Amino acid sequence: MRIVHITAEFAPLAKSGGLGDVLVGLCRELTLQGKEVEVIMPKYDFISPHLLAHLRQEIDFTAPEWEHKIANTMWSAEVEDCHLHLLEMRHPKNYFHRGRIYGFEDDVPRFIYFARAILEYLKISSKPIDILHLHDWHAAALAPLLREIYREIPVKAIVLSIHNLEYQGQCSVHDLAAIGLQKEQITHLQTGSHYNLLKGAIHYADAIAAVSPTYAQEILTPEYGFGLDETLRKHKNKLTGILNGIDMKLWDPSSDPALAAHYSASNPIPKILAAKKTNKKRLNLKNDDAPWFGAITRLVPQKGPKLLEAALKEVIHQNGVFVLLGSSPIPEIQHHFEALKKTYADHPQVLLHLDYDETLAHQLYAALDFLIVPSHFEPCGLTQLIAMHYGTVPIVRSTGGLKDTVFDCDDPRAPKEKRNGFVFSEPKPEPLIAAIHRALKNHQTNPAAHQLLIKNGMLTDFSWKKPAKEYLALYAQVTRK
Ligand code: ADP
Repeated sequence: MRIVHITAEFAPLAKSGGLGDVLVGLCRELTLQGKEVEVIMPKYDFISPHLLAHLRQEIDFTAPEWEHKIANTMWSAEVEDCHLHLLEMRHPKNYFHRGRIYGFEDDVPRFIYFARAILEYLKISSKPIDILHLHDWHAAALAPLLREIYREIPVKAIVLSIHNLEYQGQCSVHDLAAIGLQKEQITHLQTGSHYNLLKGAIHYADAIAAVSPTYAQEILTPEYGFGLDETLRKHKNKLTGILNGIDMKLWDPSSDPALAAHYSASNPIPKILAAKKTNKKRLNLKNDDAPWFGAITRLVPQKGPKLLEAALKEVIHQNGVFVLLGSSPIPEIQHHFEALKKTYADHPQVLLHLDYDETLAHQLYAALDFLIVPSHFEPCGLTQLIAMHYGTVPIVRSTGGLKDTVFDCDDPRAPKEKRNGFVFSEPKPEPLIAAIHRALKNHQTNPAAHQLLIKNGMLTDFSWKKPAKEYLALYAQVTRK
């Protein structure tokens, strides 16, 4: 079975959030299980060459945009046990040579050109594909292009993964005409006077996977559907939820090169706690037995930035330590947190690191006692999974994948060995603060109970083994038809 993934991110080459983690984790596991897996991603200018093994030029070809023929080169490389094709597009607007993945006004033209160029490449290579697996809106234009224009490319089935429904690729008839899609070929993308890439992919896909079972249900409702709930309800029979895993090689507290002290689930609790304490030391904050709370997140409304601010104030009021690693693509939010950073400059219990820093993220997962994830919605969420794997207890809002993976310490319905954190329902400061108080009380007055949460989290299998099997079952189902 030949499986080709199309993605904008693949960690550690290009990552802005969970998508990059998911691609490397899923593709590594499928490859290790003996499947023929390939990944196609733009050859961004910022990719570190030392991460690419056996880099070689595969083929030069052109792909049209309007009447222009643009030169492209497909490269191939081995990265983290996976086979990658990196598409270099010599577009006059330097579409993929801008130092970062997204956040440009012309993101839609950039990624739909990427889609068209991939199909030109696949047409030339003409090797049959069983599964074309599209990830989020960046890859969505491949679906109508394939089924309306490139019908001769032998693709048995299209699978669409929805990692975050908020981002859909809104576009105009003009954008789509640039890559050759005519009005009569885009009716399934139409939403009122606009067009929507994700809507098109939902229509053309043979199967749709949301990244957790709860999110697969939530997106059918107007509250979480971001205007596509009706379309999703129409295609409900194709929709399933498969919970993400984490990549056990990139996230391994027993060998993580970023850590000052290593530990694993099989260590006794005193060793785990001692290692966590050592990992706290290099951060130069109050480092007695005060509990450390923190968050590692994009600072966007989805993630509850106001709730994080409320948590910061409460945690330091309770004499704890609060660490935030995060940055925002939204200038007002970034400026707001920069002002907060000034307010708390030199505060021995506060660290606000308002940037993207992969190494610091690893160090924090190992140093923190509690990770706060107060999301308004959360398709799966990886930070709570990584936190638990690193012995850090999550405090989360009950939504999406957070609901599927975190079980409250005091929930009598959850078996004792599954209880691994603290959960609150309403995305408001009071319930979050109540959950922080429960976590603090447990930590201070009942160490055995706190340690059980650590162990339960660390002993849970968050690897890609089970989700990869579920994806394989889905692939088998759609290619059988
Ligand atoms: P999302 O994909 O919505 O951003 P996830 O929880 O699925 O959220 O994945 C977030 C990933 O991005 C995790 O690997 C997390 O460690 C990482 N991350 C988020 N913000 C930062 C940051 N500022 N610096 C380093 N890593 C970050």
